[in-house]
Amino acid sequence: MRKIGVHLSISGGLYRALDKARDLKIQAVQIFLKNSNRWHAKPYSDEDIRKFAEARSRKPDISVFAHSGYLINLAGAGEIHKKSMRAMIDEMRRTAQLDIEYLVIHPGSHGGRGVDDGIGRVAESLNRVLEEEPHTGILLETTAGQGASIGCRFEELRRIIDAIVHANRLGVCLDTCHIFAAGYDISDKNTFDAVVSDFNTIIGLERLKLIHINDSKRECGSRVDRHEHIGKGRIGIGGFRLIVNDARLKPIPMILETPKFNDDEADRMNLKKISGLLK
Ligand code: ZN
Ligand code: MN
Ligand code: MN
Repeated sequence: MRKIGVHLSISGGLYRALDKARDLKIQAVQIFLKNSNRWHAKPYSDEDIRKFAEARSRKPDISVFAHSGYLINLAGAGEIHKKSMRAMIDEMRRTAQLDIEYLVIHPGSHGGRGVDDGIGRVAESLNRVLEEEPHTGILLETTAGQGASIGCRFEELRRIIDAIVHANRLGVCLDTCHIFAAGYDISDKNTFDAVVSDFNTIIGLERLKLIHINDSKRECGSRVDRHEHIGKGRIGIGGFRLIVNDARLKPIPMILETPKFNDDEADRMNLKKISGLLK
């Protein structure tokens, strides 16, 4: 079955995201494990975990993904890196506690020390956390290439993967807005095919475990990460028709991270848009 879903809020309780997913009749969901803009959060109670498991059992066909907080920077240095490692291990534990297979992370920012330095730090950090928390898989997300961020070229993700000992627990999350902003033109049939085969050649489609489907407010190559509603941005409806109907991408769950308004009105609108494109 085709898995299409939405990033949903956990405010008021982790299980609320799953109840909402049931409401929306979606087959996949992504959540933050805690407030995404803070370093710390209190541990989950047994009841938090039980309620989440119960809500999930009411919708057993759903694929659940976790997305890490925004402060974590595994390519960072000094104190930031120390805090990032602690926070990363905490998030991997939470992922395991909720019986979620994958935690999505942004590779990080090299902070002016250069891409090579950044890739080295990310790889070393990932080796440590994968050793420390053996029950969680990690998905490296493709980035828009804003500032000093790593991961806007497929080659950069390949280099990280190549340096990982437990690489069987490392996959990739492709964000359509991010790759488009990074210069991969997926709005047009010819270039779209080339981008997917590049991904396959450089990273391998077997590593692709999740797609974030977001349109982009800014043009291809802008390196600006601004998500837009499906069909209202520069990727456009034609690009999404290609993305959702590509035979190579069909088995991969797709999650919307598009802007929200009026509770779930925008989500319903974008889901309808996507399902209308499916052939
Ligand atoms: Zn992300
Ligand atoms: Mn994303
Ligand atoms: Mn983004």
